[in-house]
Amino acid sequence: MGNLVAIVGRPNVGKSTLFNRLTKTRQAIVNEQAGTTRDRQYGKSEWLGKEFSVVDTGGWVVNSDDVFEEEIRKQVLLAVEEADVILFVVDVMNGVTDLDAQVAGILRRSKTPVILVANKTDSNELQYNAAEFYSLGLGDPFCISAMSGSGTGDLLDLVLSKFRKNVEETVEEDIPRFAVVGRPNAGKSSIINAFIGEERNIVTDIAGTTRDSIYTRYDKFGFDFYLVDTAGIRKKNKVSEDLEYYSVIRSIRAIEGSDVCILMLDATRGVEGQDLNIFSLIQRNQKGLVVVVNKWDLVEDKSAKVMKTFEEAIRNRLAPFTDFPIIFASALTKQRIFKVLETAKEVYLAKTKRIPTARLNEEMLPLIEAYPPPSNKGKYIKIKYVTQLPNTQIPSFVFFANLPQYVKEPYKRFLENKIRERWDLCGTPINIFIRQK
Ligand code: GDP
Ligand code: GDP
Repeated sequence: MGNLVAIVGRPNVGKSTLFNRLTKTRQAIVNEQAGTTRDRQYGKSEWLGKEFSVVDTGGWVVNSDDVFEEEIRKQVLLAVEEADVILFVVDVMNGVTDLDAQVAGILRRSKTPVILVANKTDSNELQYNAAEFYSLGLGDPFCISAMSGSGTGDLLDLVLSKFRKNVEETVEEDIPRFAVVGRPNAGKSSIINAFIGEERNIVTDIAGTTRDSIYTRYDKFGFDFYLVDTAGIRKKNKVSEDLEYYSVIRSIRAIEGSDVCILMLDATRGVEGQDLNIFSLIQRNQKGLVVVVNKWDLVEDKSAKVMKTFEEAIRNRLAPFTDFPIIFASALTKQRIFKVLETAKEVYLAKTKRIPTARLNEEMLPLIEAYPPPSNKGKYIKIKYVTQLPNTQIPSFVFFANLPQYVKEPYKRFLENKIRERWDLCGTPINIFIRQK
């Protein structure tokens, strides 16, 4: 499972500037629309060929001028619980503040490696200011300027050196890994208990080879699968459950370590912002998806019409990706619990499906001929051949064309839909590439 780096610190020290630099995201793609993922909070970084995830815990604090100390405290506790390395950012132009000292107090007690980052060291003179941060008791301050990028390469070297030597967990590759994710109280623990029963029929329990990332293997009702450990099966820690972003950060590792995510929604609440954020994490990590509308026992009118309305509302909120199964279930009464596992397995099979090249061409080329890509600047675009790439995380198809650059998004969507119609790929994202013939 991947490594996770969390950036913490009080407002205005430069956390989001550092986050942007590490993840190379630009403000332009930050989506400020309420209720959708603000991309600055979670991103992927790569250094010396090693990929890891970065979260800016401050990104969730909505109004940073008016932030409560309590909120920062929880943010830090959450980071300590979830991350492999913590970047504690302070501001050399401002010096040590009370809030810095409080945060340092929590971090000194944590077992997670902490790097004290003295940001805004835009000039050599400012390095002298950094000396006062020794008083925080977290060792040498590491001077950088997130704005200019100076020092950030060395910082990344240091980050990599702090990662636990990843003893790759010995999970069997052809057994699906499922993660149950969702916001607090959606019913994650309940459904996991329903899956595995009280007796916990554990085949293998590979504990903590990489920290607390745990794949537990179950062999139940004819299904053989790993459940990726989440807050649900871990001992519940009440620390930060009331934070809006709690379940999002908690989900990151589980999602990254899974093949298929079982996203729990609460039937009595519908799709809310936090659900969308988790959904977006699933998408960005290219995982399979099963949506479970849980607590269906609490819904009085269970008619087909009501179900259809529910389904449509969910697909509308999660568009443009809409080809995933939705199951109405109850962890409490165990209604359709079996169906959830069965469907997760089907999604796994879809995600690992190989379509023979001959079949692809037989089916797709006539469709393309009947509805070719629109010509561009008087040039005709011809697609001659299609094949599925081997060994990819999700089904990926390459169409070879004479003028690939003129094949636009709507046409790619058309190709994707046709592939989905013909071969059951429900629940898995797919890639469509157009390349030069
Ligand atoms: P956050 O609230 O901790 O996420 O802080 P931001 O990243 O939003 O930065 C707060 C302010 O500090 C912004 O005006 C940044 O442009 C500025 N800033 C960030 N990094 C640096 C730096 O390395 N040098 C200087 N001079 N300013 C910086
Ligand atoms: P988690 O925080 O996502 O792990 O949620 P829990 O499994 O702890 O469930 C939260 C609350 O919802 C508990 O009081 C459960 O008993 C209740 N709950 C979970 N699933 C169902 C369900 O299908 N129907 C009903 N009525 N209650 C449920």
